[in-house]
Amino acid sequence: MKKLSDIGTIKDILSRYGFNFSKGLGQNFLINPSVCPRMAEMSGAGEGVGVIEIGPGIGVLTQELCSIADKVVAVEIDKRLIPVLGETLSDFDNVKVINRDVMELDLNALIEKEFKGMKVVVCANLPYYITSPVIMKLLEDNLPIEAITVMVQKEAALRICAEVGTRQSGAVTVAVNFYSKPELLFGVSAGSFMPAPKVDSAVIRLNIYKEPLFKLDDSKKFFTVVRAAFAQRRKTVLNSISSSLGLEKSVVNELLLKSGVNPQARAEKLSMEDFYNISTLI
Ligand code: SAM
Repeated sequence: MKKLSDIGTIKDILSRYGFNFSKGLGQNFLINPSVCPRMAEMSGAGEGVGVIEIGPGIGVLTQELCSIADKVVAVEIDKRLIPVLGETLSDFDNVKVINRDVMELDLNALIEKEFKGMKVVVCANLPYYITSPVIMKLLEDNLPIEAITVMVQKEAALRICAEVGTRQSGAVTVAVNFYSKPELLFGVSAGSFMPAPKVDSAVIRLNIYKEPLFKLDDSKKFFTVVRAAFAQRRKTVLNSISSSLGLEKSVVNELLLKSGVNPQARAEKLSMEDFYNISTLI
């Protein structure tokens, strides 16, 4: 098997296939040999475990996942990479590559079909242009998965893993904390990728709760409130919610007071319970 851990091998493969990187698809491939084994191991992949990988690229992380998991299904949007993966993964009979946009896939159906009787985890070096939409899809689709381990830009990692109610938190922090316990695993320097991005990255793991934090009758409403509160994060929660949702200030003011929330506070100061209370009363 061609190990993809050295830059010479990677360059050789890319040039044989005449591959050039697509910036639009967030193609920054890992060339640091120590990252993938660590990431695969920390993802929970192992015996009896099936893994969904999003964006395998030329298969550097996929090889590590295939070596330790029962089965890997890798979803890659770029059809130019399919023959490359055919070569780099040819030693494994426990992998399936699907040439699709992950945002358009029914992942519940995929899990049901491909991973019967297995625990399932997600592990991916995510394309940065859709980090939040992919994470939110994985969470909101209520998939029967144990954890999501992803490489994201460092800034996004810090935002996601911030404590709710602190300055670093944002709408994504609240959303992620509703479904999971996020954990910052380790940092990865920009030089670990080809081409090197402008910023460093980090690997995070979202440990999925068996049940979400609250029972919500209308989760859409909850997330609408969260997004509205953070839409103008420098403004008070009163101003941000009323202008984002087009509601009278006096109505929102009363609602916030009834929810036990100071209307002059900023969204970043609110707790999960505050958002829950507002969304049930609104
Ligand atoms: N896993 C490889 C690595 O670590 O070297 C590649 C990671 S690269 C940051 C992101 C990968 O996601 C690329 O291969 C890109 O083509 C793929 N990708 C981008 N958008 C996608 C989408 N919507 N669905 C599936 N794959 C996508």
